[in-house]
Amino acid sequence: MTHDDAHSPDLSPETLSVHAGIGRYENRPVVPPIYETSTFSFDTVEQGAALFAGREKGYIYSRMGNPTVRALENAIATLEGGCDGLACGSGMAAIHTALAAFLTAGDHLVCSEAVYGPTSNLVDQVLTRFGIETTLVDTSDTRAVAGAMQRNTKVVFVETPGNPTLVVSDLQAVSAIAHEHGARLIVGNTFMSPILQQPLSLGADVVVHSLTKFLNGHADVVGGVIIPKTDEDYAHLRGILNHLGGVLPPFEAFLVHRGIRTLALRMEKHSRSALEVAKHLEAHPEVEWVRYPGLESHPQHEVHLKQCRSGGGMVTFELKGGVEAGRAMMNAVKLCGLAVSLGGVESLIQHPASMTHAIMGQEARAQAGISDGLVRLSVGIEAVDDVIADLDQALVAASQATAHPGSTV
Ligand SMILES: *Cc1c(COP(=O)(O)O)cnc(C)c1O
Repeated sequence: MTHDDAHSPDLSPETLSVHAGIGRYENRPVVPPIYETSTFSFDTVEQGAALFAGREKGYIYSRMGNPTVRALENAIATLEGGCDGLACGSGMAAIHTALAAFLTAGDHLVCSEAVYGPTSNLVDQVLTRFGIETTLVDTSDTRAVAGAMQRNTKVVFVETPGNPTLVVSDLQAVSAIAHEHGARLIVGNTFMSPILQQPLSLGADVVVHSLTKFLNGHADVVGGVIIPKTDEDYAHLRGILNHLGGVLPPFEAFLVHRGIRTLALRMEKHSRSALEVAKHLEAHPEVEWVRYPGLESHPQHEVHLKQCRSGGGMVTFELKGGVEAGRAMMNAVKLCGLAVSLGGVESLIQHPASMTHAIMGQEARAQAGISDGLVRLSVGIEAVDDVIADLDQALVAASQATAHPGSTV
């Protein structure tokens, strides 16, 4: 039942992604078994009392902890360099739990303006109802972060690179500002994974992830995780998660843990391919601009390389032909899947102006930094030449659909 998570921090991330959280179990399987059980029986009433009082270590009920889930939590905590982890039923459950743990009515939150859409909805539509005020700022601008801090600011929430513009924030600088004001820095690390970026080592207090994306990597699970730096924060978060109840089920934990064993290999390939795709698109006549943190043309390229090993698997670009070109390109891709979500082995593409953000209208989209021709691409681990060939043929369709100046047709 126990697992041995005492891995040396000297091991490289590649090695840790294979071995972290894989412990010793009855009958000595090399993979943690799936404990598909809601509850755990006590030998005696005295033992039950000791477990509830915390005098004895062990499992009680799966909302409070489950061995398959604990193995995953240990694995990700080891990779992030945190003290422990809390797996949640989705990335949004992880973000909600973390914010609910550290914010109280009357508190103020400073949040990156370039964040995952549902995170900004959580902040404006849910947290406001509980008396929590938020200021959205461009967290890549360190002075803007300092200017947004108030006496009651308790949390700074940063996503870097931010969705979908891939704007990069300097985590060391932002953590210094947060700490100067007595606030915690929570970092969304979904786009990078702990293989490429370890925010706790850059001053963050808590890391959150959507497990749904790169960590699982196989597009077959929805999940999330919270990794705090200190034991004190872990104990507090565990209590809050136990009350809110948004935990990850054991089978999903098993799948994500299985995915993590190839995380280092996948991230290396995602980054290498995405860089090639980004360079190719940057030279393409149908493309106005490309944002990829691994490109020298990215405004925060230097900051990104200071805090990350490489650019990751996400590329954002702007089509010269606007909404029409985007729609035509989406309908023409054959290999790239036309779907939201990201971070899986398969390449996925999406055009916010004609899909996810179509109902917003152009003005509101522009305010959120979503231009008409903006396309978000999650570069998978296919042969990069096949991905590029698919994009090229879809860009021909985009140029045929729009006769703009500079069109190749
Ligand atoms: C997907 C995602 C989330 C939300 O995760 P779910 O698992 O879909 O709830 C939060 N932040 C970022 C950056 C994401 O990509």
